[in-house]
Amino acid sequence: MAKKLKNYIGGEWVESSATTYTPVINPATCEVLGECPESTRADVDQAVKAAQEAFVEWRSTPVLNRAQYMYQLKHIIEDRFEELVEMVVQENGKTRDEARGEVRRGIESIDFATTVPVLMRSDGVEDIAAGIDEDTVMQPAGVFAAITPFNFPAMVPLWFLPTAITCGNTFILKPSPQTPISMDILFQIMEDLDLPEGVVNLVQGGKEASMALMEHPGVKGVSFVGSSPVARLVYETCTKHGKRVQAQGGAKNYIAVLPDADMTASVKNIMGAAYGCAGQRCLAAAVVVGVGDAYDKLRDELVRQAQGLRVGYGLQETTQMGTVVSAAAKERIERMITEGEKQGAKVLLDGRRAVVNGFENGNFVGPTIVENVSADNILAKEEVFGPVLSLMKADSFDEAVDIINSSKYGNAASLFTDSGRHAREFKYRVNAGNIGINIGVAAPSASFPFGGQKESFFGDLHGQGIDSINFYTERKIVIERWI
Ligand code: NAD
Repeated sequence: MAKKLKNYIGGEWVESSATTYTPVINPATCEVLGECPESTRADVDQAVKAAQEAFVEWRSTPVLNRAQYMYQLKHIIEDRFEELVEMVVQENGKTRDEARGEVRRGIESIDFATTVPVLMRSDGVEDIAAGIDEDTVMQPAGVFAAITPFNFPAMVPLWFLPTAITCGNTFILKPSPQTPISMDILFQIMEDLDLPEGVVNLVQGGKEASMALMEHPGVKGVSFVGSSPVARLVYETCTKHGKRVQAQGGAKNYIAVLPDADMTASVKNIMGAAYGCAGQRCLAAAVVVGVGDAYDKLRDELVRQAQGLRVGYGLQETTQMGTVVSAAAKERIERMITEGEKQGAKVLLDGRRAVVNGFENGNFVGPTIVENVSADNILAKEEVFGPVLSLMKADSFDEAVDIINSSKYGNAASLFTDSGRHAREFKYRVNAGNIGINIGVAAPSASFPFGGQKESFFGDLHGQGIDSINFYTERKIVIERWI
């Protein structure tokens, strides 16, 4: 019988008061890995109370001591690195190497949190008026929550938890109910840290738990990552309840390729960007715009290489592309390809109805390439979140920029070129939060904020980097006279 997941509240594993449990299914083998509770408002309330109680002591724990926990966390995660990796593969469907990359990126966020003692320093001026000194101090703000998606079950929670708690806040995490077990393991790992009870809390569940966190008066702010409609809802709900919020949403990322680009390097990068994690990345390449002569060369080489990708179960070392996360995701992706075809797109490489020997019931979608995609085609406009690459033609650089800027999303965009002038124009004019120049996946490292514009981000301060320090602290101005 599959393990019923528990919540971790106030330093203890506690059973949820949920009446409903959702099976957590390995999308390649269909094995049931666990049962995820639909935690209730009462569970969230219990977690908020524990976090509020812990905040009193934790905020006055010296920041250097708080940072020490991060050095330890890094080491104990390294010790159980492969265990975490295997669970990411099993519950998400990506390959082992992709999961290793994800956990490694998560560890980089822990590294970043060790710099909080430096980044929480603030400024002041002596004698701002005669005998009066004025200073700013950055203080922890209270209880923060994060609501995270299925596609990076280990990395995305680590964008938030380490920095939030090292800034002196206490924390509640609600992972995706599709991939909750990686965080169950992370919280088991964190038990070895001996953090004071209630500093970190885990509530498993779905919408009810999310809503309860967003509406709870004891929660100061919410970090969210997920699809755009939910990001908008989270932004609106949190602001209505007077909370600070950073809500990172979905994406439709474009890559433009100019005729002067190195075609071999461009194709290699686009392959990784389009098919890495089976396209289930908010930074995945979704549309390639070939400019002028670049188009035909790109199309032929992309189809040739995509045909050769080995699709299979992520735990098998030979696999180059794994499954999508669920039967529902496979059905949605295949439906979108069919819809795009009806709207005039030509399918050059068809990943629908993909079957992998030995895993006949797995949720595989093969690499797919479509062309003749007009700007109003569903495959140009909407996020597919699967291994589907749309090809578009542009006659000029300017036309490519216009196509990119017509998207309602603004998460990432890349340009492949040998021209410094075009690279500069691209950085200057394209409305996307993460720009790549001769880079397929423009993923900011942990010390930089994770960009995002338009429907891809709702809020002011982004996740990661200095933005996260500002998000997780309260600035207080102190004006003093002693003489
Ligand atoms: P999702 O929006 O379905 O779910 C994200 C989280 O919100 C989950 O924890 C889920 O339980 C919760 N949730 C879902 N519906 C809700 C509702 N109605 N009310 C309250 N909470 C709700 O996203 P997903 O399918 O898990 O993840 C994929 C999406 O995330 C894609 O759109 C992808 O582009 C996006 N994403 C964005 C970034 C980024 O940095 N911008 C990073 C990774 C993923």
